[in-house]
Amino acid sequence: MTDFAATRPLFDLPEGVIYLDGNSLGPLPRAAAARVARTVTREWGEMVITGWNRAGWMAQPRALGDRIGRLIGAAPGTVVVGDTLSVKVYQALAAALEMRPDRRVVLSDTGNFPTDLYMAEGLISTLGRGHELKCVAPETVEDHIDGEVAVVMLTEVDYRTGRRHDMARLTRAAHAAGALTIWDLAHSAGALPVDVAATGADFAAGCTYKYLNAGPGAPAFIYVAPRHAETARPALSGWLGHAAPFDFEPAYRAGRGIDRMRVGTPPVIQMAALEAALDIWDGVDMAALRARSLALGDLFIAEVEARCPALALVTPRVHRDRGSQVSFRFAEGFAAMQALIARGVIGDFRAPDIMRFGIAPLYIGEDDIRHAAGILQEVMEGRLWDDPAYRQRAAVT
Ligand SMILES: *Cc1c(COP(=O)(O)O)cnc(C)c1O
Repeated sequence: MTDFAATRPLFDLPEGVIYLDGNSLGPLPRAAAARVARTVTREWGEMVITGWNRAGWMAQPRALGDRIGRLIGAAPGTVVVGDTLSVKVYQALAAALEMRPDRRVVLSDTGNFPTDLYMAEGLISTLGRGHELKCVAPETVEDHIDGEVAVVMLTEVDYRTGRRHDMARLTRAAHAAGALTIWDLAHSAGALPVDVAATGADFAAGCTYKYLNAGPGAPAFIYVAPRHAETARPALSGWLGHAAPFDFEPAYRAGRGIDRMRVGTPPVIQMAALEAALDIWDGVDMAALRARSLALGDLFIAEVEARCPALALVTPRVHRDRGSQVSFRFAEGFAAMQALIARGVIGDFRAPDIMRFGIAPLYIGEDDIRHAAGILQEVMEGRLWDDPAYRQRAAVT
């Protein structure tokens, strides 16, 4: 069992803030500041280039991958970190399409995060082989899996609504039709238990700056099922994915297993923050986290529905069908969220009208949930959102 009262002090949360946006950018683990400082001064500063060996920088992408692996049900040696999630999705899709050369459809859904779809569009146009990106309504994905589909590429938990796909079932359906699967775990890793091995996923990828709390710009991770690891061809054939990077051979030879999904120089300083973030995760029981996340989500839904009749729940009530966020629809949601943030409750807004609240049990408790719902009630009852100051949109929303 995990003691969630003991994990909260491990985070440096801003004073007076209830942070319900860990699904977008997790807060600072207290130990990360010192860990990053040590990497900068003791490793980079004192070791300079010898840090690659002496401080183990070069081995970190695999070591950190293994620690993330425990959270997503991946065996050691099947996950590696690096680059951004957009890049990892591209790599997975490129490899998967090559494994199904006579099929032309990439099946996804309209709830998928745009970058996944954009990367697919870009890859399809680069390949120039007549692939089609087919985006269907999330609840109809299974009906569209047929013998034309090369890859089913989905995000397990919808970034706007929090709706969760049945990964095992859709993976089974894809395999039965001869298709491969790519699962984006951006809103799953650190949010709920995932078991990529048991569900049979072919590829999976995710980011570490959301629920995993590794900070802005933290590297992504990619998982390749062991049965594909030695055959998946890397489209982004960078030197660190080469079988012998320091032989500096003129021609590319893919590295062994998951190493071939590395591309270039890893982000050493950012990996230090990820390491500190994973120190917290190493002690977390994912089943306990899930139970707590659902209970807090239920509480937030009940509180907000009782206090704010104008907000319409869009997140599924059924536990099995949701991730670790709760979203409401409100036409003036952008301004309402700004008003809420001005009063110390940080959630976020996703166009066109979704107010989104991330539930992260490592640092959010029942009192936070009740307090946040109370402030939301004040904003709604007093129409506090109806202020021109709250209609200004910054570059990042
Ligand atoms: C956050 C998110 C991304 C972000 O990709 P980056 O390359 O890290 O910016 C991609 N996909 C999904 C589903 C996301 O939620």
